[in-house]
Amino acid sequence: MTQSTAPPPADPNVSIARLHGEACYWCGSAHSTLTPAGSVTTPVGGGQRLWFIVACEWHSKRRPR
Ligand SMILES: [Zn+2]
Repeated sequence: MTQSTAPPPADPNVSIARLHGEACYWCGSAHSTLTPAGSVTTPVGGGQRLWFIVACEWHSKRRPR
């Protein structure tokens, strides 16, 4: 049993707008077609918070890892 299906941790420098799915997770674009791109996690007290991120049309095939 591995944890390969668990969402990866978010880049600690990523902006909150990107975690909220309001802008592309990779480039921050909010002016293109944004599509779901999986999820990442950030550490919170007592566990992890799951965020559903989006990607712009250029990063639509990219996934967090
Ligand atoms: Zn992008």
